[in-house]
Amino acid sequence: MSNVKTYRGSCFCGEVRFTVNGEPVAMGYCHCESCRRWSAGPVNAFTLSKPEEVQITRGADNIGTYNKTPHSYRKWCKTCGGHIFTEHPGMGLIDVYAVVIPDFPYHAGVHVHYQESKLHIKDGLRKMKDVPKEMGGSGVSMAE
Ligand SMILES: [Zn+2]
Ligand SMILES: [Zn+2]
Repeated sequence: MSNVKTYRGSCFCGEVRFTVNGEPVAMGYCHCESCRRWSAGPVNAFTLSKPEEVQITRGADNIGTYNKTPHSYRKWCKTCGGHIFTEHPGMGLIDVYAVVIPDFPYHAGVHVHYQESKLHIKDGLRKMKDVPKEMGGSGVSMAE
């Protein structure tokens, strides 16, 4: 597996650094209220990777965690407050925010939780009302 690429990421200030290996399981935009309120942004660009593909290389004890629900453990840097990633234990995946891994070849494949959207994006990609069936959702698509 010598051709597996490693991408470097960091928080806003650089105290926390990490790497992500290989291609993610999924990439897209999340419009859910939790992502919007936590990030204070209208939409969240996510990448979902297996936990073993994400390694903290610096500042592991500088990472804060908050979980409003058992589904999402949100992580940020205690120095700058910059968001880093969110663990989804139920899915067995980590959402590493696309913006914190600048060299990562991010290509959104889908929009999720579009029924909660505050910023409609007409990019021709599939708009899922919530999430795919295999992730516990309805699997229903909706208009842009
Ligand atoms: Zn930081
Ligand atoms: Zn979300």
